[in-house]
Amino acid sequence: MSNKHKILVVEDERKIRSFMKAILDTNGYQVVTAGDCVQGEFMYCSHRPDLVLLDLGLPDMDGMCFIQKIRLTDATPIIVLSARTEEGDKVEALDAGANDYITKPFGTAELLARVRATLRNHRYEKLEEGDSYGKYVCRDMEIDYEKRKVEVCGEEIKLTQTEYNIVALLSRHSGRVMTYAAIIRGVWGSADAGSVKKLQVNMANIRKKLGSRPGESKYIINELGVGYRMEDEG
Ligand code: CA
Repeated sequence: MSNKHKILVVEDERKIRSFMKAILDTNGYQVVTAGDCVQGEFMYCSHRPDLVLLDLGLPDMDGMCFIQKIRLTDATPIIVLSARTEEGDKVEALDAGANDYITKPFGTAELLARVRATLRNHRYEKLEEGDSYGKYVCRDMEIDYEKRKVEVCGEEIKLTQTEYNIVALLSRHSGRVMTYAAIIRGVWGSADAGSVKKLQVNMANIRKKLGSRPGESKYIINELGVGYRMEDEG
C-alpha cells in the first residue's frame, strides 16, 4: 500500500496502544505513540502527524485540552476514542473540533475505516470546499451533484431541496459522523429552537424515501444523541 500517512496514537492503556500500532503498521501507516497528554503534545510537535487518534481519558490531562490546543493553530484531523458510556463527551469533543470518534471496544475493520474516511474527508475539504461536481456511489445509491439527483437502483428518488441538501452534505462527509449542529449549520446556515426537530422530520422522510424501515439502517446511520453518518462508498 502506498499510504505513508503518519498517525499519532495517544492512549494510556498499553494493550490498546500496541493493538492500534500493530494494525496501523501492518496497513502501511507510519505510527508514533504517546501514553499521556504531555508526551502526546511533544510527539505532535516533533512529528507533525497527518492524523491523531486520541483517547479522552488520559492520566495527566483531559484529552479535550489536547483538542483545544491543536485547534488553536492546526486543522490536523483528530479521531477521539471514547467509551460507550461517554455520549456527552463525544458531542463535546466533536464541537471542540474533533473530526470523528470511535467507541471502545472497536475492531480492526472499524479502526481502519474511520482512519481512511477521515484522511479522505480532510483531503476533500482542502481541495474543494462546498464544490458541486462529480458523483457519489454507495452500493445501490448514486448521487449526481451536478444534476442534484439521487437514484437508488437506477430509479430517481424525489427529494425536496432541503432533503437533497442534507443527503448531499452527509455524502460529502461519508464514513464520518456529523453532529446535529454541524448538519443544521451546513443546511440552514444557522440554528433556531426548532432546528433539531426540523432536521429529524426531514431525516425521517429521507430514510423513508431511500427505502429504510424505522430502525433499519440503510445508507444513513443514526448515531443516537450525536448525529448522522452516511455509509462509506463501496
Ligand atoms: Ca484512558
